[in-house]
Amino acid sequence: MPTMGSLHEGHLSLIRRAREETDLLIVSIFVNPSQFGKGEDFDKYPRDFRKDKKLALKEGVDIIFYPGEQAMYPDGFRTSIKVAGLADSLCGRFRPGHFEGVATVVAKLFNIVEPDIAYFGQKDYQQARIIKQLAKDLDMNIKIKVLPIMREQDGLALSSRNKYLSPEQRKKAALIYAALKDARKKIASGQKSSAKITAAIKKKLRQAGFKIDYVELVRLDDLSSVKRVNNKVLLAVAARLGRTRLIDNIIIG
Ligand code: AMP
Repeated sequence: MPTMGSLHEGHLSLIRRAREETDLLIVSIFVNPSQFGKGEDFDKYPRDFRKDKKLALKEGVDIIFYPGEQAMYPDGFRTSIKVAGLADSLCGRFRPGHFEGVATVVAKLFNIVEPDIAYFGQKDYQQARIIKQLAKDLDMNIKIKVLPIMREQDGLALSSRNKYLSPEQRKKAALIYAALKDARKKIASGQKSSAKITAAIKKKLRQAGFKIDYVELVRLDDLSSVKRVNNKVLLAVAARLGRTRLIDNIIIG
């Protein structure tokens, strides 16, 4: 199970599931520089290896793989993996190069660890979709499991970046999930227009002071936009409160 550390209940839910389903569980902790863009939060990303180690061992993790940057990217490293199409929409539009960094580091981790099963969270739906494609395309014999999003009591999806929020922003942050649930209700009662559904969410979040990166309804398989909601779709949001970027999503239908 790949992580960037700063482990929270979201990570631990994946670890617990993996612990139940496997006889040797390896968790990696690596804040991967190549998936952060210029001006993003690589330097201030929360790191606390001692705490992570305690939590992981308490959950029965067998091995923590905690490589240094030089071990992962020695001088002369040149390769980059691009999963075309899937990496260009949603977060890919706002974080150029991000998913190349993710795909490359995860491919490396897969080659180093040679897992039978790898665990990811739906919180990063696009990431999980890209990893599934990568494993398939590169003939990696690895089952990719994607597990549900763990949330705070008020609905905010757990994230290492929630630590950046001021108390006031933290309260507002719960509005993202509230807006997603609202949209689900509207769709259940017959609203089919993506434009109307996403506009209502954007309005609500903007009024509360969010800057929106995107609010989109997309197909689950190729992440392309849907105009009308007929089948199962992903409703995904990325929005910023101050300098903190939050993402969330729900699957509808
Ligand atoms: P990260 O450390 O942010 O790279 O996350 C490591 C893994 O944990 C990824 O597969 C994430 O999707 C997953 N994850 C992060 N937050 C949550 C959450 N709130 N619920 C479930 N899984 C999560």
